[in-house]
Amino acid sequence: MLYEVRIWGKDLKCDVCFENQWFKSTLKTELVSEENGWEYNKEVRYMFECKKCGNCRIFGKVSNEDNIEDVKITISPILEVPPIISIDVSNIKKSKELHLLLKEKLEFPDFYGENWDAFWDAITGLVELPDKLEFIGWAKLQKKLPRDATIMKKCLVDYNKESYVKKCEFIFN
Ligand SMILES: [Zn+2]
Repeated sequence: MLYEVRIWGKDLKCDVCFENQWFKSTLKTELVSEENGWEYNKEVRYMFECKKCGNCRIFGKVSNEDNIEDVKITISPILEVPPIISIDVSNIKKSKELHLLLKEKLEFPDFYGENWDAFWDAITGLVELPDKLEFIGWAKLQKKLPRDATIMKKCLVDYNKESYVKKCEFIFN
């Protein structure tokens, strides 16, 4: 998914090729702070990758997870994600087919690794999920690929526990 990015109200343009469309990743880091009695602080940073030349820009400490309002970055999707996406998984027979279907429907990047670690990274950092995501034929998938179905469901449940993501309602039909 591509974004236009504004930093303090100014368009972010690639300093190599002047393109202004970016892929976005979210980086989470944990820092131990000496001042606060060795407390763990989680920080969220954004990494933007130029659409044209792949040049990366990372923005330092964007925000604490619980202080996301304080961001001086405006990120607008160039194409809006539809509010509801339905994915029919009833005819899936292999794990790879499932990953390819998810990749297509959720617009994962070309370098999507087709495994559950890559799935987690994609939904939490690379793409934006719709408001509702519906799976059709879930019971069939659970029967055919019980392990994949369990891991995938766990990823989705855990996704909504992350405080920096836009919440998504998952429907398993
Ligand atoms: Zn560029």
